Amino acid sequence: MIVLKFGGSSVADAACMRQVAGLVKAALPKSPLVVLSAMGKTTNGLFDAAKAAESGDLTLAMERQRALMASHRQAASDLFAGSVPESLDVALTDLFGELELLLRGVALLRELSPRSMDAIASLGERLSTRVFAAFVGGAWVDARKVLRTDQVFGEAIPQPAAIRALAAEHMKPLLGAGQVVVTQGYIGATEDGLTTTLGRGGSDYSAALFGAALGAEEVQIWTDVEGVLTCDPRIVPEALPLSELSFAEAAELAAFGAKVLHPATIQPAVEAGIPVTVRHTQKPEGRFTTISAEVHTGRPITALASRGPVTVLTVSSTRMLAQSGFLARLFEVFGRRGVSVDLVATAEVSVSLTVEADVPLKPLIEDLSAFAKVEIHEGRAIIAAVGERLKSTPGLGSKLLTALGDINVEMISMGGNEINLSLVVKVESTHEALRRLHRVLVGGIS
Ligand code: ADP
Ligand code: ASP
Ligand code: MG
Repeated sequence: MIVLKFGGSSVADAACMRQVAGLVKAALPKSPLVVLSAMGKTTNGLFDAAKAAESGDLTLAMERQRALMASHRQAASDLFAGSVPESLDVALTDLFGELELLLRGVALLRELSPRSMDAIASLGERLSTRVFAAFVGGAWVDARKVLRTDQVFGEAIPQPAAIRALAAEHMKPLLGAGQVVVTQGYIGATEDGLTTTLGRGGSDYSAALFGAALGAEEVQIWTDVEGVLTCDPRIVPEALPLSELSFAEAAELAAFGAKVLHPATIQPAVEAGIPVTVRHTQKPEGRFTTISAEVHTGRPITALASRGPVTVLTVSSTRMLAQSGFLARLFEVFGRRGVSVDLVATAEVSVSLTVEADVPLKPLIEDLSAFAKVEIHEGRAIIAAVGERLKSTPGLGSKLLTALGDINVEMISMGGNEINLSLVVKVESTHEALRRLHRVLVGGIS
């Protein structure tokens, strides 16, 4: 079997869904499992509605609910030329009724817990898959019956062993040549049946998890670009498509901000040895990227990515000069406070590290101040150059830094692995820095 995952822009309206239906039809001999995102920007709409309800503005929340209802009903009506089957009509009415109840509850309490947010966010994928499954006459599977997760609402951790067993029970019997099985990306459930989500952009991850659980031949990620490019084409229009990427390169690019793949996507596929391809829904005959265990590109730099804003913390302690245990003490604080650290650069008595911009700094600083001085620099971005021969190519580092010219590099991290060189710059310099580095990338480095 194969997994085909279609992102939000691929199922944004009836015309897009027709295109997707054509691709799914072509995949029928391969027993497809179709994993869908919410239509277009529906998830953003659901977040906005939930926030409006939380602030007590039920009128605005309901306006947003009605806008979503109108766009889904319009898509259904267009797909069925005005005669929407009763079962779909009832399903949509039920789902929008559920959304209304949830929003009213949030507005009454003026409280939006991550658990309530997940219940609301889940509606996007549940709606899109209902419409699409009805259109293609496919079997609809509630992903929450299969994608078992822990209880960390908003960023739930999947449980692969349980998912394998549940996929065998609820999905495998429906799969077969000539059959379409449709399910939701992004959403899952705890053992107690509480709805969870895998975090924004999580449908890619769902696709890989289902693929691994079912032993898929391939996981296809269908989106709005011709595969993974050398950089985000919205920032660097001359970015080039990559026909192949190694698992390690893809994982690194995703982790450092290449939105085209959710950072965790690659892991289940790597473990199961399943190739992942990234393809353009509107240009199915065009170029695409294959990411697989067999691929070793051997390139000095394959692609660039960026992530920001991040905060740089520089922690120094002269008292620790020539004493052992400084790093242990430092990281104990981050571990205890549950703050994950991205980049680290060390000197004798000081350490610079980056954390996400939304990390609560106050408790962290309080703890660190007990033994060190802390400087905080907000509004920074990480730029990552990724390539299999990055570290072993002489002169590459100096070429990259030279290309940046007057853009100040505040931190450099290399060596954690062979394939990533990360630089920290001010967030407002990110786009220009990427454009300058991209010229080095395409200029060729032997
Ligand atoms: P989907 O809704 O299909 O999941 P996303 O918007 O999440 O699509 O991801 C696709 C987008 O990722 C592209 O439109 C592009 O702007 C962005 N992107 C960022 N980095 C890259 C890259 N290296 N290659 C291709 N696309 C990238
Ligand atoms: N619909 C979700 C989001 O917008 C998940 C996804 O599209 O991957 O984040
Ligand atoms: Mg995405």
